[in-house]
Amino acid sequence: MIDFDVPLAELPRLKARVPGIGGSVRGAVRFGRQSDLAVAEISLAGKATLQCQRCMQAMELPLESTTHVALIFAEADAAEVPEELEPVLARSGNISAGELVEEELLLALPIVPLHAALRECAVPAAAPLVSQEAAEPVTQRPFAGLGELLRHK
Ligand SMILES: [Zn+2]
Repeated sequence: MIDFDVPLAELPRLKARVPGIGGSVRGAVRFGRQSDLAVAEISLAGKATLQCQRCMQAMELPLESTTHVALIFAEADAAEVPEELEPVLARSGNISAGELVEEELLLALPIVPLHAALRECAVPAAAPLVSQEAAEPVTQRPFAGLGELLRHK
């Protein structure tokens, strides 16, 4: 069993995908065997600090998971992994606890982080109007023009 406590900014692949990521996770990786498979249990808890892509302010994302993976050494072996295990390809024939944790986090983090509720988004008053407009979701309002027409009759 390998304990870890790692700042997210120190994981190179995570940092490459989410520039400016902060926060940290701690937990443990336990390696074992199940039938003919090399398996690992990864449990982690912590939080990531990300930039909300709507208001561009910092947001915290709590992370907590326990995952059971099977280590495979070729893509084709994935077919032999039972359903309750998540196949992880160990290309070099070996995979470190750190790589497993990073793999988990890459899956857990949203591609476009956003505050869960719109009201949590704090759009700074000083922000230029253009960027606020750019952040607005595009809504289709087919009858908006019709309302205008009726009003001006
Ligand atoms: Zn936000």
